[in-house]
Amino acid sequence: MASADEMLQNAAARSAELAAPGLSPRPRRSVAVLCCMDTRIDVFAMLGLSRGDAHIIRNAGGLVTDDALRSLSASQRLLGTEEVVVVMHDGCGLHGASEDEYAQALAADGVLPTWRLGAFEDVEEALRASLARLRSAPELTHRAQIRGFVFNPEDGTMREVEAGPARPSAQ
Ligand SMILES: [Zn+2]
Repeated sequence: MASADEMLQNAAARSAELAAPGLSPRPRRSVAVLCCMDTRIDVFAMLGLSRGDAHIIRNAGGLVTDDALRSLSASQRLLGTEEVVVVMHDGCGLHGASEDEYAQALAADGVLPTWRLGAFEDVEEALRASLARLRSAPELTHRAQIRGFVFNPEDGTMREVEAGPARPSAQ
């Protein structure tokens, strides 16, 4: 049986607990989390979140892509969040990947994407770059509370990476 079929059955069997009548779509804790899609990260358990608390935006790497920024912008401007937490992690699939080889493989299949894979060599440096981009992003209305963490799936610890001096915004 395909996983999708099992998922459909699971949801049907648990509809009573999945229902959230009256729960606001506005995050209770006014926070949006941008996190890598890595299977080892249980965002809710790790950050002490419950359903209704936060927006969770996940992609490969937990990178501030144009689409992540779109979601964060909607989170703040439409749904009232005022704080952003970015979570990357040790042992990420993008760590040490080859941007060039990936682009060549896509080109060989006739694809010239407008996006980049986002491979990086240093997770903390990549996270600092993301924090700097968010801090200077006019798409966001709240930029005072933007923090970055790196999770280690091997030992379960999480550490904060300081953003460093914000880049001067181009205004
Ligand atoms: Zn990852």
